[in-house]
Amino acid sequence: MDQRDKPRFAADSMLGTLAKWLRVMGYDALYFQRGEDVELERIALREGRTLLTRDGEIVKRGTCPSILIRSDQLPQQLREVIAELRLKWESKVFTRCLVCNLPLVQTEKEKVKNRVPPYVYHTQKRFMICPGCRRIYWPGTHWQRMTERLREIVGGGL
Ligand SMILES: [Zn+2]
Repeated sequence: MDQRDKPRFAADSMLGTLAKWLRVMGYDALYFQRGEDVELERIALREGRTLLTRDGEIVKRGTCPSILIRSDQLPQQLREVIAELRLKWESKVFTRCLVCNLPLVQTEKEKVKNRVPPYVYHTQKRFMICPGCRRIYWPGTHWQRMTERLREIVGGGL
């Protein structure tokens, strides 16, 4: 995939939930719980990330690519980012760890046998694992609920 189709993000401390939902959509989204503005700007610039911020001063300085997030509500925040960058993300939902931001890797069903509830093991075929925290993901009801929520927020396109 062309890199331009796959922007990477760095979210400031006000935008943790937005970062998490960008990960649900499959985007690489760092989230800074703390840190000086200049440090955020430096990391964004160095790593080619678009800084998502609620601080208009940062955007005005223009030291790195940035988007001023105007809303304090998640649905509207997501729409702002999607509209600004014309994001296409249909095929990438749940390809990234929601906690570590690392790309998930497919794992064999047998390998997760003792790590997921028996019901899940018997009803799911496809499992993915995070190479960082070893969390296991599968397209179960939680996953479906989050995809539904995304569909509600973004409207169609899934
Ligand atoms: Zn992880």
